[in-house]
Amino acid sequence: MSNRAVLYVVATPIGNLEDMTPRAVRVLSSVDLIAAEDTRHSAGLLRHFGVTTGTAAVHEHNEREQIPRLIELLRSGKSIALISDAGTPLVSDPGFRLVRAARAAGVDVVPVPGACAAVAALSVAGLPSDRFAFEGFPPAKAAARRALFAGVHGEPRTLVFYEVPHRIVESLADMASVFGAERPAVFARELTKQFETVRAGTLAELHDWARSDPNQQRGEIVVLVHGAPAEDARAGDAEAERILQLLMAELPISRAAALAAGITGRKKNLLYDRALALAGAGAKPPAPRRKKQQ
Ligand code: SAM
Repeated sequence: MSNRAVLYVVATPIGNLEDMTPRAVRVLSSVDLIAAEDTRHSAGLLRHFGVTTGTAAVHEHNEREQIPRLIELLRSGKSIALISDAGTPLVSDPGFRLVRAARAAGVDVVPVPGACAAVAALSVAGLPSDRFAFEGFPPAKAAARRALFAGVHGEPRTLVFYEVPHRIVESLADMASVFGAERPAVFARELTKQFETVRAGTLAELHDWARSDPNQQRGEIVVLVHGAPAEDARAGDAEAERILQLLMAELPISRAAALAAGITGRKKNLLYDRALALAGAGAKPPAPRRKKQQ
């Protein structure tokens, strides 16, 4: 249809179909192909809006293989719209490799903005929103999850997490233990849908509430955590981390964490998680007395 290759990145609703923008409908109707994360899932949405454009599946398992064919189509002047199952593509959704390849090929990449669960949650949370850090889904395994939380424990910006319902209780428990039971947070579930719930409280309160109500362990969830208090973020964390790193150079992680806790008065489990994160990130300094590598 078009004589100029364009890859449109089109946001779709995260629940309420009224959040579909007229521009999104127009673009989806006018492109030559819709690259959809799940073509069957998107079929209902496209039918609802009378969009008859053909679709091709582009998801995390086939994105790499699909790229050459899609770039070829774009180069030949065809326009493509990328959509995900819900919300904004590339935000905890596939698409970044395709966008990167399209940009590298000199193709225009045009955003068609709309719903995004992280931004929708932030907009109603009442937590500082001038700066925020989107962390996506925390790891499924407890140790990795706690290490990730420990790594952002001193982060002063509001933290935004996606979480799956079957892990929300354990994830909130880990957040409370790593960030502190009293850290303010907001739980945002099923935004724009029938059972929309937005609840503010301390992490301990939100954990107890979600654990005692199975309804809160269903649907789609965003958890927002207030950034670290300024003094935590700066002095305490920096000093504790410096001591921890020095001890890690000489001792096993658990011993280093125990000693660092004794010296700084900070919680041992917090320092242990931080040590794991540092070791995992390769930040552990080399042991001093080892022979220098050539
Ligand atoms: N690309 C999407 C976006 O723009 O938000 C996110 C896709 S990610 C695979 C799905 C996760 O987003 C869910 O597990 C949940 O954490 C969050 N999410 C999506 N829709 C939501 C909603 N209506 N209410 C709350 N969270 C939602």
